[in-house]
Amino acid sequence: MTDRPRCPRGADVCPPGPEHLPAVTERPTLSFELFPPRTPAAEPRLWQTVRALEAARPDFVSVTYGASGRTRETTRALVRRLLRETSLTAIVHLTCVGTSREEVSQVVREFLDEGVRAFLALRGDPPADAEDWQPHPDGVDTAADLVALLRRIEAERVAVSPAQAVRATVRPLSLAVAAFPRGNHATGGTRAQDVQSLLAKQEAGADFAITQVVHTADDFAGLVEEARSAGVRIPIIPGVIPLTDPGRLRRLEQLTGVPAPAALVGRLDAIEDPEHRHEVGVDATAELLRGVLDAGAPGVHVYTFNQHRGPLDALERAGLLGHAHDDAPDEAPGEAPGDTPAAGDRVPAAVG
Ligand SMILES: Cc1cc2nc3c(=O)[nH]c(=O)nc-3n(C[C@H](O)[C@H](O)[C@H](O)COP(=O)(O)OP(=O)(O)OC[C@H]3O[C@@H](n4cnc5c(N)ncnc54)[C@H](O)[C@@H]3O)c2cc1C
Repeated sequence: MTDRPRCPRGADVCPPGPEHLPAVTERPTLSFELFPPRTPAAEPRLWQTVRALEAARPDFVSVTYGASGRTRETTRALVRRLLRETSLTAIVHLTCVGTSREEVSQVVREFLDEGVRAFLALRGDPPADAEDWQPHPDGVDTAADLVALLRRIEAERVAVSPAQAVRATVRPLSLAVAAFPRGNHATGGTRAQDVQSLLAKQEAGADFAITQVVHTADDFAGLVEEARSAGVRIPIIPGVIPLTDPGRLRRLEQLTGVPAPAALVGRLDAIEDPEHRHEVGVDATAELLRGVLDAGAPGVHVYTFNQHRGPLDALERAGLLGHAHDDAPDEAPGEAPGDTPAAGDRVPAAVG
């Protein structure tokens, strides 16, 4: 690694430890997205990643949830283990499309009973093979409705239990929502429509937003400008992927409609040595991370694809890690075998 971050206290040798990190107010938030392992064989590797990411002391990790609750059990198992065995704060993605209001409420209560205090409230997309998709007759139709439902369930629980009221004061329910700097390709929505949707989510009680993957700081800044003019006040955190894998960048373009950075993809394609390709991609990602922060982002949310090397190398190069990454176990460049997201697979949320 080059350009090691400097010790904020100016020491030559900076031992790891919270006292050597910059003051909390000076640090951008740092968060990672994980998805539940798609096969049992992928689980040990995921946990290697979890431990490496934990050492970076993120503010939270978010865990994806398949549309229509498809990964309900695997998401729950991962979240439960994160809560019990790590120091990480977990935000659970929740989708509501194709599900009755009662079923969604049941899932919410189960997660709350497990100790979850943060959700990313999403509508979710209808299944790719559903030609004539219709809203569920007694369903929750938009993410804003889901935010309102979550707030109502929490209020009901607090109203019937003084103990719960105290807990809710100490650990308030935190609700994140999605935002789309280039409009939502999956629904055909424009950025202007999505900003209106974001406003509705804020009015329903959302606390902050995380964007679909951005590859340029301008895309992020454009969304924020339009959202602020429309009255959106909640923080908006840009979602970034490590720009190290040209194949993944091309696939994401197909799935999200977010254009892959063509010049970088061409450059990465032309490099044969995987280590050299990794280094070039890490440099590009670090530049993007610094760019979104310079554009005013309160923090960065990294779509990890359940890998740690690319995310942590890029954050370190951008000067965002302190020394926390020194202990992270190594990982070969490329995708984790057996856990590679495929087209049509809604699990990694970077595809939005
Ligand atoms: C950070 C992030 C994480 C994600 N995680 C997952 C995941 O774990 N699992 C998964 O299945 N999917 C996930 N997705 C994908 C997401 O569920 C889909 O892209 C879904 O289509 C959008 O959901 P939404 O929450 O923005 O819905 P909504 O805000 O309800 O929007 C849905 C559509 O309705 C329109 N709309 C809604 N309300 C209004 C309004 N008041 N005015 C105008 N237009 C409106 C919007 O423009 C949009 O076209 C994620 C996306 C992101 C960005």
